[in-house]
Amino acid sequence: NDLTIITTASIALPASPFEGRHFIDGTWCDSANGETFERISPSHGVVVSRSAKGGREDAERAIAAARKAFDVGIWSRISGKERATVLLKVADLIEANVERMAILETLESGKPITQARGEVSGAADLWRYAASLARTLHGDSHNSLGEQMLGVVLKEPIGVVSIITPWNFPFWILSQKLPFALAAGCTCVIKPSEMTPSTTVMLADLLVEAGLPAGTVNIVLGFGQPVGQVMAEHAQVDMVTFTGSTAVGKAIMAAASGTLKKVALELGGKNPQVIFPDADLDSAADAVTFGVYFNAGECCNSGSRIIVHEDIAEAFVSRVVALSKKVAFGDPLNPDTQVGAIISSAHQEKIDGYVRAAVAAGAKVQLGGATLPIAELPGRFYQPTVVTGVTSDMPIAREEVFGPVLSVLTFRTLDEAIDLVNDAPYGLSAGVWSENVHTCLEFSRRVQAGTVWTNTWMDGFPELTFGGFKQSGQGREIGPYGLDEFLEVKTVVMRI
Ligand code: NAD
Repeated sequence: NDLTIITTASIALPASPFEGRHFIDGTWCDSANGETFERISPSHGVVVSRSAKGGREDAERAIAAARKAFDVGIWSRISGKERATVLLKVADLIEANVERMAILETLESGKPITQARGEVSGAADLWRYAASLARTLHGDSHNSLGEQMLGVVLKEPIGVVSIITPWNFPFWILSQKLPFALAAGCTCVIKPSEMTPSTTVMLADLLVEAGLPAGTVNIVLGFGQPVGQVMAEHAQVDMVTFTGSTAVGKAIMAAASGTLKKVALELGGKNPQVIFPDADLDSAADAVTFGVYFNAGECCNSGSRIIVHEDIAEAFVSRVVALSKKVAFGDPLNPDTQVGAIISSAHQEKIDGYVRAAVAAGAKVQLGGATLPIAELPGRFYQPTVVTGVTSDMPIAREEVFGPVLSVLTFRTLDEAIDLVNDAPYGLSAGVWSENVHTCLEFSRRVQAGTVWTNTWMDGFPELTFGGFKQSGQGREIGPYGLDEFLEVKTVVMRI
């Protein structure tokens, strides 16, 4: 075929698997039951890591350590300046370890090494930004309540936070949560995805080196059942922050409801980009191509459906198809690779199922639409895929495909485009491409999405906040709102 495929890389595979253990109360430990599990690289087929497989007892020990650390209060009571000093040291240490962490992240997740490097070094900036927020924990005071009254609203750390993360951006997503929880003065228990546990484990060494007190951050490795479940339902946990699928988000909310603990959820997306005829179509086509193939489409912000004006649809799709053929798929350890492996066989099947169902319902595959066997690599790859003739009732247009698959819908009027955007259960992000500022503004105001990109896609900054409408979640991450999530508000009323 005429796709761009990369079959080799000069970075050598590690000589032996990374060994991951739980990190509880400042100590490395095995599971109480002695069990372990292995992660096999989705691109290279080798065992990348062997990790302790946590059980209920390990999760409960970690929660007890975080509870004790919070209640003793070394971390929760020191000044914001002291917390910031530690967080800044962690940021420096992350930067010094980018390559080691990026190689493991690439081999566990299948993502290209350049994107893994960018993810880890970008995460260091989240730690720096969170450090700056550690010095901004202030509430309000009210001196207009009558002569003898003073009201003070304090912001306090919420307490023990469970952090449960997915496999698609393991270190980035952890860094959208952990440094903000720490800046607020919370203590934490973390469970990384069983697919990508190792960069979280590596972080623990850096936290120790930076001087974080024992018990402040605890890590339990393992699966949603039982570890994640215990972390969501346990009475000694004050909040659970979760990023992952909408289905598991609902299960976590149900598990947390027994104690009515706070829940913050960053869930799935079905993110549209709407292209008007007056847009800069070269930039739009570049952004659409990037938006759908970034991280092999295994991205909550994947621009997986485009809604393009019918006058330009055919020409625009031809342009995207031509660009898609130039995107380099293949060995994720090669720095020239732009799209790596699919996370699991089951997931690859799921991606393929969406495409087959769309075709059966009348859609047309313009490019790809099948797995991409690469003789030199034992892993799983999927072809860049563009599907036209998609209608909004098809599962490929409504559900997360989470693969390198673009669905194309068409529209005639702004109202129709907005209806199509909002006709999905998700509301994470949306994009509009037009040179008309009124079109962009009206679109931004009327669409149900936590982030709206106008004439750009996927730009993000630690200063700005991120989160979803509808079934894409609740609560917000990063930016000052990201800090607020981890703070409880207390009103003190004084007669003076
Ligand atoms: P997932 O929901 O399968 O798993 C996420 C985490 O939850 C893992 O650590 C898993 O072990 C754990 N888990 C599973 N069952 C659990 C349970 N019953 N109780 C507690 N924990 C449990 O998600 P995934 O496949 O790892 O990640 C992909 C999903 O994440 C996609 O839907 C994607 O859109 C979403 N995501 C969202 C964002 C965002 O910011 N909105 C970012 C990245 C990924």
